[in-house]
Amino acid sequence: AAIADTASNERPEDRAWLADKDHFIHPYTDFTTFQQEGSQVIREASGVTVTDTGGKAYLDAIAGLWCMNLGHGRTEIADAMGEQARKMAYFNTFGHSTNVPASLLAAEVAKRAPGSLNHVFYSTGGSTANDTAVRLIHYYFNRLGRHAKKKIISRNDGYHGSTYFASALTGIHGVHLGFDRISQDLVHHVSAANLYRRPAGMDEAQFCDYLVDELRQRIHQLGAENVAAFIAEPVMGAGGVLVAPAGYHRRVAQLCRENEILYIADEVVTGFGRLGHWFASEDRFGHVPDVIVSAKGISSGYCPLGATLFSDAIHEVIAVPQAPGGVLSHGFTYSGHPVSCAAALATIDIIERENILSHVREVGPYMQTRLKELLRHEVVGDVRGDHLMAGIELVKDRERRINFAPDSGATHKVFVAARQRGVIVRPVGNVIVLSPPLVISKAEIDIIVDTLHETMSEVGPALMAS
Ligand code: PMP
Repeated sequence: AAIADTASNERPEDRAWLADKDHFIHPYTDFTTFQQEGSQVIREASGVTVTDTGGKAYLDAIAGLWCMNLGHGRTEIADAMGEQARKMAYFNTFGHSTNVPASLLAAEVAKRAPGSLNHVFYSTGGSTANDTAVRLIHYYFNRLGRHAKKKIISRNDGYHGSTYFASALTGIHGVHLGFDRISQDLVHHVSAANLYRRPAGMDEAQFCDYLVDELRQRIHQLGAENVAAFIAEPVMGAGGVLVAPAGYHRRVAQLCRENEILYIADEVVTGFGRLGHWFASEDRFGHVPDVIVSAKGISSGYCPLGATLFSDAIHEVIAVPQAPGGVLSHGFTYSGHPVSCAAALATIDIIERENILSHVREVGPYMQTRLKELLRHEVVGDVRGDHLMAGIELVKDRERRINFAPDSGATHKVFVAARQRGVIVRPVGNVIVLSPPLVISKAEIDIIVDTLHETMSEVGPALMAS
């Protein structure tokens, strides 16, 4: 293949920009701006700071991508990975073989999971962990002889990943543009629990009733005997950081139980501390799901890892001895990868030793309170979130809650202006998302909020006038 001629004595990081532009198809990328600007090449990172190849440092207010929970440059995690890689980098876990970190991690995760979620299936990230959840739930109902019980109810604006099936679970409209959807009749979406955009005249409690009623009707319409599971993030992330009305998850879980529908909590973002607990479902929202999906923070982003946790009741059905020759035929080459699991064990150890969960419970509410100040800017319609995940929704008409046109690039402009000031935030649709490393201090939160004030003051009036 043809490649650009770059001087051989250039440093790799100088060659990277061109190599990237010419050969690397980036995920989730607007190729108009990509062609114009190319990539920012991040060279190194430490704590909450990342540095690009130009030597400019930035406060990483998104923890890489909701994942670098313990911050960058943790030598303990790197050492644990290195040690494991030197000792035994990989051997498969199919059938009867295992490795030390994967086995120990399964027990450590089970110990911290709610209810009887005692059994872990490993994968490579959030998408494959969600695929695993659905595939094994289908297998579960097949084994019970309930072959019709297959449909999955998901939510508009939910994000569950990018494999073909996880993308079908995803309810964000923009994610599907230009693509096909598989499983049209297998996956059904109900409304997002979007308090900011609830029907006019409803208070929070009425909106909760409305959402639960909608789900009840949908179950009735599809037939409970045909519905296998409901899937939801405890707090929606990529869909715009949406916190459900009080009691929503508990009531939905109850409705699911009444209809023998399994509740899958997608805790890829909320698990491992972002909301101040190991898992948010029980400790924040008061219910125990049948399945929990985890990734990202489980290894603090240091190595790819997904984990799908199943209850005793499901495990009893899927992991009983089969008819002779029968095998649970699901798994990935890298299920239980020793280096990823070593990173996760080191992560759990640090979370515990440094009291990260109580730190999040202290600084999380501080960040939410300070961010509310941004409502003083006319361009800010809503500020919401929970602990260390937050969303700032931009509007051109605050009264009527009307967003900017998609081609206005409003959130991209805020992202660029904040980055110039040394803070990296994330534009997602009409929302600026924040998910800093859990080790962030109040002083660093002040820097983020002060920078956003300056950014909104600079960019806001121009956007309003456009
Ligand atoms: N579920 C949720 C809630 C997520 O936020 C993400 C990723 N942002 C995924 C699933 C998919 O995870 P991955 O990109 O690791 O496949």
